[in-house]
Amino acid sequence: MDEKVTHAKEVIADALKRYPKIGVACSFGKDSMVTVHIAREVDPNIKVFSVMTRFKPPETYDYLRKMNRKMNLRATVYIVANSVPEGLKDDALEVVLLPSAEFDKKASQVEAETGQAIYKRDPDECCRLLKVDPTKVAVANLDAWVTGLRNTEGRTREDYQEVENKGGLIKINPILTFTEAEIWKYIATKGIEPHPWYSKGYRSLGCAPCSRPGGVLERDGRWQDTSKCGGECGIHTQTLRA
Ligand code: SF4
Repeated sequence: MDEKVTHAKEVIADALKRYPKIGVACSFGKDSMVTVHIAREVDPNIKVFSVMTRFKPPETYDYLRKMNRKMNLRATVYIVANSVPEGLKDDALEVVLLPSAEFDKKASQVEAETGQAIYKRDPDECCRLLKVDPTKVAVANLDAWVTGLRNTEGRTREDYQEVENKGGLIKINPILTFTEAEIWKYIATKGIEPHPWYSKGYRSLGCAPCSRPGGVLERDGRWQDTSKCGGECGIHTQTLRA
């Protein structure tokens, strides 16, 4: 694992030289925490940003606030909402509110027509409006972003590369080859407090209605019983440049 950590640091250091406008995306899941920790060992001032949604569990907001202070991340949080949710109110956080009208209209429409919540009936549209479009805003002024994506997380993540160029936006995946066991080893070694849901058997954390514990592969618990079971929200599959 030490060699992989050293390599990840080299990848980030090289990216910092090439792309001055760079930020680390942090969902506050285990892989993000490792990525952020490694990135900040390379540059303690590297920008950290997070895209949150109204459907994240309260534990994620609590954990985000706690770790933002504990690790002095000075994170910027993007969220589609008309006001800052209680769980994200903290002087140490910068919260950027994004317009909510389109999501509210679409969610009401889907519910009126089908009797089902948008995340059940049309999770792709829900993710587009709450995650993909906000991520586009978050990276709009960046040349490159750093993610915690890993090849062994699920069937949809086997073919990614360490450095990708999508529409001119560079994506750096420095922990791409880390295994789940190596992630937990790094977390234990560095004394990073993990999100409390991992102790309940979750292996991959997303929004509350779309995450379940267990699974053969880590992402198997995501979007179960929907059209995108074990799949992707879209931030890693779609072009984020408008
Ligand atoms: S993960 Fe689920 S609730 Fe969250 S944005 Fe996607 S579909 Fe909506």
